[in-house]
Order: sequence, then structure tokens, then C-alpha cells
Amino acid sequence: MREGLLELFQEVFRELRPATAIPELKIVFFPFANVNNTIRLREGRLLVRLSDLLEGAPDVVLRAIAHILLAKMYRKPIDPRQSARYRKYVGSQEIVRKTHLVRQIRGSKRLRSASGVFYDLTAVFEDLNLRFFHGLMARPRLSWSQTKTRRILGHYDPAHNAIIISRIFDHPAVPRYVLEYIVYHEMLHLKHPVRLRGSRRCVHSAEFQAEEKLFPKIDAANAFLKRL
Ligand SMILES: [Zn+2]
Repeated sequence: MREGLLELFQEVFRELRPATAIPELKIVFFPFANVNNTIRLREGRLLVRLSDLLEGAPDVVLRAIAHILLAKMYRKPIDPRQSARYRKYVGSQEIVRKTHLVRQIRGSKRLRSASGVFYDLTAVFEDLNLRFFHGLMARPRLSWSQTKTRRILGHYDPAHNAIIISRIFDHPAVPRYVLEYIVYHEMLHLKHPVRLRGSRRCVHSAEFQAEEKLFPKIDAANAFLKRL
């Protein structure tokens, strides 16, 4: 393991939970098919798997990852500066290119997956889950559409418990909040199943619409979508 990495995670843990004893930590670099980092708690032990694409990342970036993972694990607010630092690094040309390359090698059978070139739907989902649903929504299958369709921007398929998002949003010109708005809308479909009101299918109920308006940048997102 990389020198000082364990200490770095321990420090971040202490910042987030000063009153709690630090659990045993195991951190490994793992050859995911894309930039991915996971954390699990098993029998009191924290297991962290970091993408091996980040093995050479500067300490500040690894610290940001530690913060994001541990804050997620313990349902603490994620410091926006830390997530910005992480995203900036992962979005840097060098990492994007590296990711693209290893995905071709490692991920050939994962053609339709939640991780795009620029955005990872799993990360977007989990972020929204924390911000709007107390992290309580069970994650459905998430996938980018196979083609860059403008006809369907997003779709929740209850039969397969899957959210499909048009690949046109997996693009650097698309602000993250626009993609978030599309995913958020589909998440509301999970939360508010289609009801029959008389003989009419009620897809966007009053509760659905009220909750959709809680999305902070809804006007800006809609303005962007109009220009698509
Ligand atoms: Zn809808």
C-alpha cells in the first residue's frame, strides 16, 4: 500500500468523528474498469477500495477521496470543496484519457453501464440520494442509453427496476446539475409509483410535482434543456 495512506484516512476519520475510536482500516487499490472508489463496513472493519487509476494522485486528492468516502459512510455532510477537488482531478485530461484507455481493456463487456465517459450515474444517484432522500433510496439498476437520444431524456422502468439516462448528458458541456435534475426526476418516479386515478394513469401527481420543485436549480436546468 502507498506510504502514508492509512495515516491520511485515520486523520480524516478523526476530523469527521473526533469522539469515536478509529476502526481497523484496510485500504487497497483495485483495478476497476473506471474511476471508482468504494467503502464498506464489515464486522467493525472499514474496507476501502480505491481505483488504481488514482494510485499516483497527490495527497490532497486522496484526502478529498477519504473525506467523501468516510462522510458518506457516516452520513455526514460532504464538504463541497473536497468534492470539487476530487471531481477536478478525476475530470483532468490525464485521468480522463487514462480512464478511457483502461475501460477499453477492462470493461469491454460492460458496454451499457452506469459509468459514462464524464459522469458516473452511480455517483450522481448516491449524491442525490443523500441530499434529497436521506440516503434511504435503494439503488435501482442505472444505465446510460445505448444511443445519444434526444427523444427520451430519462426513463424509469419499474419492470426491471432500472433508470436509463440519455447518453447526451454524458458530456462536459452538460452542467452536472442538469444531469442531476434528470436523474432526480426519475428517482421521484421510484418514490411515487404511477397510480390509477379513476381510469387515468397519474404519472406526475401533485405530490410528485411539489417534490420536484424542491430541486434547487430547476429553472436553470429547464432553461438548459430547452436549448438542447
Ligand atoms: Zn416523468
